[in-house]
Amino acid sequence: MKLWVNGGLFDADAARVSVLDHGLTVGDGVFETLKSVDGRPFAMEPHLDRLTRSARGLGLPDPDLDEVRRACAAVLEANPMPLGRLRITYTGGLSPLGSDRGDAGPTLVVALGETTRRPDTTAVITVPWTRNERSALAGLKTTSYAENVVALAAAHERGASEALFANTVGRLCEGTGSNVFVVLDGRLYTPPLTSGCLAGITRALTVEWTGAQETELPMDVLERADEIFLTSTLRDVQAVHRVDGRELPGAPGPVTAKTMRIFAERAAQM
Ligand code: PMP
Repeated sequence: MKLWVNGGLFDADAARVSVLDHGLTVGDGVFETLKSVDGRPFAMEPHLDRLTRSARGLGLPDPDLDEVRRACAAVLEANPMPLGRLRITYTGGLSPLGSDRGDAGPTLVVALGETTRRPDTTAVITVPWTRNERSALAGLKTTSYAENVVALAAAHERGASEALFANTVGRLCEGTGSNVFVVLDGRLYTPPLTSGCLAGITRALTVEWTGAQETELPMDVLERADEIFLTSTLRDVQAVHRVDGRELPGAPGPVTAKTMRIFAERAAQM
């Protein structure tokens, strides 16, 4: 496996960043996960836009997108695989211990891992921990993912593959690595970005292609919804067949199945 670190391609076991990198010591970094199909990255430009927005949100210098594009192309070429998870990490770089950022300049790492298609349906749980829609980090894809790690482990313990969060005012927000959509009386809804959720690339495409309405949703919508599905780069559109103790028999239901079809058709043309 070859990966890119700060300007060059290295064997994974020879790639080095400082142990005092702010990304490691305080989680001062941002990232993107892209899907690659037969070496071709999907929706590269929206991911690069979000990387820049996240970096600006943390006060990091804008990433050099030409280098990021070159790095992605080099890593994809060096590691051929049918379905890949391309990870761009961009951090505060070598910095003093503590929260002040040093001036050594940011770190860029691009790595690729093999992945497999997710099942069409899955179980989810809700967790009592909240997303803070008023946080300085709301909506940024930072490397501070520890809360997601904890929530995902809780989901796995309960036989589910994803955990859904409310925000601080009790509205449905998102999963640890996905956005959420619900169907009520045949209509499709998803929480708005003001809920504190990430501006998912898959979410945006799904809203554009289906006309789903962005609206605040109470958590108990999960007890009433006729259908629920998740969206993310590695899932595309994935139906939910159980939420906490509630079964949704027949998942994917008609609206979800139609969304899956539309997504597959349109994504193949991109
Ligand atoms: N929310 C969170 C917290 C995520 O980590 C992800 C995965 N990037 C998503 C939503 C879905 O975003 P996307 O469709 O861009 O993968």
